[in-house]
Amino acid sequence: MEFIYNDIFRRHDTGAHPENVARLDFLKGIPQSELEDGSEYLELVHAGDYIADVRRTCRTGGGPLDGDTLVSPRSFDVAVAAVAATVKASRTNGFAMVRPPGHHAFIARASGFCLFNNVAIATAALVREGKRVMILDFDGHCGDGTEDIFYRWDTVLYCSLHQFPAFPFTGTADQIGEGRGRGFTVNVPLPPQSGDDLFWKGMELIMQIAEQFAPDSLAVSAGFDAHHADPLLNLRLSADTYYDLGRELGLAFPQMFAALEGGYNTAYLSQCVHNFKDGVNGDPLKFSEHRTDSMIQAVDEFDHRLFELEDKLKDFWKIS
Ligand SMILES: [Zn+2]
Repeated sequence: MEFIYNDIFRRHDTGAHPENVARLDFLKGIPQSELEDGSEYLELVHAGDYIADVRRTCRTGGGPLDGDTLVSPRSFDVAVAAVAATVKASRTNGFAMVRPPGHHAFIARASGFCLFNNVAIATAALVREGKRVMILDFDGHCGDGTEDIFYRWDTVLYCSLHQFPAFPFTGTADQIGEGRGRGFTVNVPLPPQSGDDLFWKGMELIMQIAEQFAPDSLAVSAGFDAHHADPLLNLRLSADTYYDLGRELGLAFPQMFAALEGGYNTAYLSQCVHNFKDGVNGDPLKFSEHRTDSMIQAVDEFDHRLFELEDKLKDFWKIS
C-alpha cells in the first residue's frame, strides 16, 4: 500500500478550523501522484443539482455549506481531485491522503467537513463493475453519509466503529439497513472512554461477518480521531491499534484500499497513518505506545450494546 497524494489537497482553505491544511504537513515533499479528472465519477453517488451548488458556492468566493463545512474558491477542484485519488487508490490498493474528507457527505448534502463522499464514490465504481465491496469505517465518527448511501444495498457491506453519542448522533446498533440491504449495515457504537479492548471486541464481530460476506474488495474509511489524543472525541485508542488493524486487514484482504477521513491531532496523525500503512505492508512498527483499557462504565454499556447488535444481526450472519 502506497500513499496517493498531491499538493492540490493543501488548497482547500478552511482557515482556523479543525480540518485544516496543516493536517497534511507531514506529507510535504513526498512524491506526488498524477490524478485524472474526478468529475466524471461524482454522479455515481451525488445529485446533479447538489454538485452544481457546491461548484457555484466555491466559484463565487466560498463560504459555509452547512454549520461546520467551509469551502474556499478552490475547494470544488480539490474535492474532485480527492475523488480521483480515491478512485485511483481503489485500482492500485493505495491509500489516498486527501482533504476534504468524505464519509459525512450525503447524496445531496454536505456535512461534517465533507463535500463529496470519496470512499462511497470509489465503492460505487467497483460495484458498477460487478464487484461486492465491504467498507470498514474506523474513523471515530459514524460515516452517516456513506451509511445512508448504501443503506438499501446488499452488494456493499458497511461496517463502522465510532463513538456514540457524538456527532452525527446516528449509528446505533439497531440501524442494520433496510429492504435488500437489511443486515448489510453494521454499527459498533463505542461509549465515550472506550479503549483498545472494546475496539477489538467490535472488530472481532466485524471480521466474522466479513468472512461470510467475502467481498471482492475492502474499502477503508481511515480516520484517526479515535486516538486518545484527538481533540474532537473521547475515545482512547493507542497508535499501536492502527498498526495491528492494518496488519490484520492486510492479511485478510488481498484487494484493499483506503482514504483519509478525520484525525485532528496533527502531532499524532502522521504516526497513526504510518502505523496503519506499515501494518498493512508488514513493515516494522515504528511508533509504539502503551495499550489502553476502557473505563469500567464504558465496558458495561458496550457489552449491552454488543448484545443488542448481535441479536439484530443473527438472522443474517452466523455469530459465535
Ligand atoms: Zn471523524
